[in-house]
Amino acid sequence: MTYVIAQPCVDIMDRACVTECPVDCIYEGARTLYINPQECVDCHACEPVCPVEAIFHEHDLPEHWAHYLAVNAEYFEEAACPPGERCDAVGDHPVVAALPPQNAVHKKEISVFTVAKEEAADADLWFPL
Ligand code: SF4
Ligand code: SF4
Repeated sequence: MTYVIAQPCVDIMDRACVTECPVDCIYEGARTLYINPQECVDCHACEPVCPVEAIFHEHDLPEHWAHYLAVNAEYFEEAACPPGERCDAVGDHPVVAALPPQNAVHKKEISVFTVAKEEAADADLWFPL
């Protein structure tokens, strides 16, 4: 079993999921992140923090993004990195590389939303209820 990163992450890459993963199995390509299915322990920690709902359990992938199960797996087969070693920044799976640029306005909105969430969390720290 594994979780899968689908198309909404492309050109967003805010990395909120990376800090949540207890086994460090989320890797960076050029335009999106990928979950290594050989390393994912199916813990669900990453899914709720994604601001664009790009992360799904493999059994919950919407039909139109079902191919992202293979996209994530094949990325690591292609990268052929030795077990236990990081495989960041080795480009993208061909399916992702062929996508047109994703909406830049949407991307800006997401980053503003993420910053606002961080500020709110900081405020809670300093002014607890
Ligand atoms: S489900 Fe857990 S182990 Fe798998 S990628 Fe997400 S945080 Fe990492
Ligand atoms: S939290 Fe979502 S958008 Fe951000 S890097 Fe992870 S999968 Fe991509």
